[in-house]
This record gives sequence, C-alpha cells and structure tokens, in this order.
Amino acid sequence: MSDKTVPMQTDNFIDGRFRQARSGLADEVVNPATGETIASVASADAVDVDDAVTAAARAFEGWSRTTPRERCERISALADVVEANLDELKEIECRNVGKPTSIVDFEFDLTVDNLRFFAAAARFLEGRAAGEYLVDHTSFTRRDPIGVIGSIAPWNYPLNMATWKIGPALAAGNTVVLKPSELTPLSALRVAELSAEIFPPGVLNVVSGRGSTAGEALVTHPLVDMVSLTGSVATGRHIAEVAAASLKRVHLELGGKAPVVVFDDADIELLVGTLAEMSYYNSGQDCTAPCRVIAGPRCYDEVVAGLTDAVAALKVGDPFDPDTAVGPLVSAAQRGRVASMVERAVDGGAEVLVGGAAPEGAGFFYAPSVVAGPAQDSEIVQREVFGPVVTVQRAGDEDQLLEWANGVDYGLAASVWTRDVGRAMRMAALLRFGTVWINDHIPIVSEMPHGGFKQSGYGKDMSIYALDHYTEVKHVMVRW
Ligand code: NAD
Repeated sequence: MSDKTVPMQTDNFIDGRFRQARSGLADEVVNPATGETIASVASADAVDVDDAVTAAARAFEGWSRTTPRERCERISALADVVEANLDELKEIECRNVGKPTSIVDFEFDLTVDNLRFFAAAARFLEGRAAGEYLVDHTSFTRRDPIGVIGSIAPWNYPLNMATWKIGPALAAGNTVVLKPSELTPLSALRVAELSAEIFPPGVLNVVSGRGSTAGEALVTHPLVDMVSLTGSVATGRHIAEVAAASLKRVHLELGGKAPVVVFDDADIELLVGTLAEMSYYNSGQDCTAPCRVIAGPRCYDEVVAGLTDAVAALKVGDPFDPDTAVGPLVSAAQRGRVASMVERAVDGGAEVLVGGAAPEGAGFFYAPSVVAGPAQDSEIVQREVFGPVVTVQRAGDEDQLLEWANGVDYGLAASVWTRDVGRAMRMAALLRFGTVWINDHIPIVSEMPHGGFKQSGYGKDMSIYALDHYTEVKHVMVRW
C-alpha cells in the first residue's frame, strides 16, 4: 500500500449514476491522523433520498423476480470486483478512518468473504413446511423479500459494515439505499462505482449525508419497508421510535460493552496477548472490543501488571507506518468524549495505570489506556467508551464475576477465560450476550450470527440467520 492520494468518488450514487446533491451542499471528510480535509462529499437531503428510494422501489419489481442463481452471480461479481480493488479500498479506509495499514487485512478479507457467503446463500432460501395440514389442501411456506431496505452504516468499519447490510438484503431480493456515515462515506461510494456495471440501476444506491437529514429522510420515507442500522444505542432507539409510526421493520446492531471474565485458573499470558491486540484494535472503536476486564481475586494483580506492560509497548502513530499498532480516533469529538470519560473515572476514584492522555501534535490520537478499579456502577463501566481504554475490576467469586459481567444495559459480546470446561459451559449459558468466546475474543466468521441481546439491538448480521430478517415468511395454501 502506498502513501499516495487516491482518486475519490464524491457524489451520490442514485439509479445507476452519480449525481451531485440537489441542494449543492457538501460535507467535509477529514483524515483523522492529520486533521486535514481530504474530500468534500455531496450531502444528501430528503430530496436526494427521495430520488434514491423511488429508484430502489422501481428496481424492486425486477430484482425481486430474478432467480437465486442470477442474484448469486451478481453478488459474486461484486465480491470479485471488491477483491480486485482491495489495495485501493484499504488505502481509502486507512486515510478516512486512520486505521493502521498493519491491521486492515482481516477486516477486508471478511468483507469479501461476507459478500461471497451471501451470494451463495441466495440459492438456499427456503420455506420450512410443506404438507397437507387440512384435508384436501396443500400448504407451503416461502420466503419473500421485504422491499426497499434503508441501510444506515457507522464510521468504525465503514465498508465492512456496509457490505454486511448489502449482502443479505440483495441476496433475498430486496433493493437497497445505503447511507454511510457522513464521517466516512468514501469507501462505500467507491464500491458503488465498482457496482455500476453489475446491478441494474436502482438495485443498489448510496447516498451520503448526515443522520439528521439523509438518515431521518430514509427512516421516514413511506416507500422504505425496512431500516437496518448499525450505530449507537441512542440512534437505534430514535429510529425505532420514528419507524413505529409506519410500522416499518427495524434491524438494529447497536453498541456494546464487552466483559472479559477472567477466572483464577486462566492462561494469563494468552489473555494479556489477546487483550493487548484486540482491545486496542481499530483504536478500540469496535462494538465487541474486550474493554471491561473482570478478574478473579488471585489473578487480578498478574492481569493488571501484564496488561499495563503490554499496552505501554504498543506503537501509536502514522497509520501508514507498518509498525504502527494503534492509529487515531475518528474525530476530535470522539477523542474529546473518550478523554472526558477517563477524567470522570479518575474523579470517581479509578486509577490510570498507563495512557490517559492525548499526545501533542496533529491528529486525533489518544494513548492506549488501562484504568484500574472503577466501581461497577461508574460511567466508564456502564457506558460505551469506544476508544483505546480498558477497565479492570477485581471480583470476589464466580457469582460476582457473572453479576458484574451481566450488569450493564448492553449485550453484544463477552468472553470467558478459564481452563475448566464445565465452568466455561456454565458461563456461556448464563452470560446474556449475543456472542460468547471461550479463551479468545473478537474472531468472527461469515457462517456465524452477530447481533445483540438487550439494548445492543435485535436482528442478526452475518450467517443464514441474517436472511430471516431480510425476508417475510408467506403461507401459500392450495385447495385440491
Ligand atoms: P451513530 O449512531 O452516531 O451513527 C450511525 C449511523 O446512523 C450514521 O450513518 C449516522 O449518520 C446515522 N444517524 C445518526 N442519527 C440518525 C437519525 N436521526 N436518523 C437516521 N440515521 C441517523 O453511530 P456511530 O458513531 O457512527 O458508530 C458508532 C456506534 O456504532 C457505536 O455505538 C458502536 O458500538 C456501534 N456499532 C455497532 C456494531 C454492531 O454490530 N452491533 C458495529 C459497529 C458499530
């Protein structure tokens, strides 16, 4: 990957072609590693969104009637063209989000794999029942597409999150209007350009713009049948409220506050190595990041000492330096939010063991941090920080480990660290989170579902379960 400036598509992609925002307004897109503006992107409002949704509704008639094979072939073609342009897409993302080039291979490999998974899944849509449930009648069920999907993506994994939404929606025969985050629209717009020869006009549209204008217009548009959001709990709650007025379907992948439940018999070296990498991966801007360590009474000191040393050694800096492990946060506002949460934690009695400050110089960097001893009811334990900050708490026994782990509003992901198989199975059953890892944290695969319990939302991404959410079950009954 080079450090050159890549050409960037900056208009909205509607009905198969790029168009400027009708208002003429644009949003500035910034490189968070330098604070410099790198692009000015058309800022869609309700008028542009209406153009895109109308095109998607028109395209639905044809796309929903394509054969599974045709949808499979076209989504596969999208995967191929994304793969063929991977270096350029990685560079756009590293420049727009500040991701270190050293960490993006896994993310983009998953992006391509996820598209391939849903290309194949298009051919496996099936109803579950067929039979004679009433005398002289045959019944069967089928899975029909829902219609126009308004897909709203966040800024932490801009293209990856976008493709998680595009793949299952298109595979099921829906059409899509995707709104990337106004902070990070560039990779989605480039993929829209790459898709132009693959899908009929209107099947996939990309409108960039702010949540309060383009996002709100998508959620309230009468021709949008379902809204799929990956974002914060606050945005999810708002969208669910607004969508209730028209009973639109809603699919919500929201925030997380993943506990790392460490028993005294755990392999601490393995744990510390995993946390030093995964808690600070993407600058901790990950909804499943292992950010809340709850350690047993006898291993606590070893966990804290090992983690502090490992985190102090992480190289922070230029995303294009191959030795960099941690880049900047996405924006000045996000860094300010992280810094103020750490300050309030210290005011509340917690101790910063490493980090806890923003380095001098350009860019929105924040030092990878370990915060020890926060109270269970403190803000830093209860609320998503979404930055390179890990808290460590000392728990008394298994009951307290479990109680603290489950004692938050979120329920996206958790991990358990122990050599005792029975205890691991018990914890996996009792933890109220959508994913539970045993002796690992973060790996994901396209075949397995990803989604929340509690306020982390509802509806699954990835896996065949995602198709359940992008289809309606229909009963057909035939009299003999
Ligand atoms: P955000 O909620 O601020 O924004 C997400 C998207 O929603 C953006 O595109 C934004 O423009 C849009 N939006 C904002 N207000 C809107 C409104 N009123 N109507 C319609 N759209 C609106 O979230 P973010 O800061 O971009 O992303 C970080 C959040 O995303 C974190 O909470 C993180 O945990 C969550 N996230 C969750 C998952 C998951 O799989 N569960 C994955 C990645 C990120």
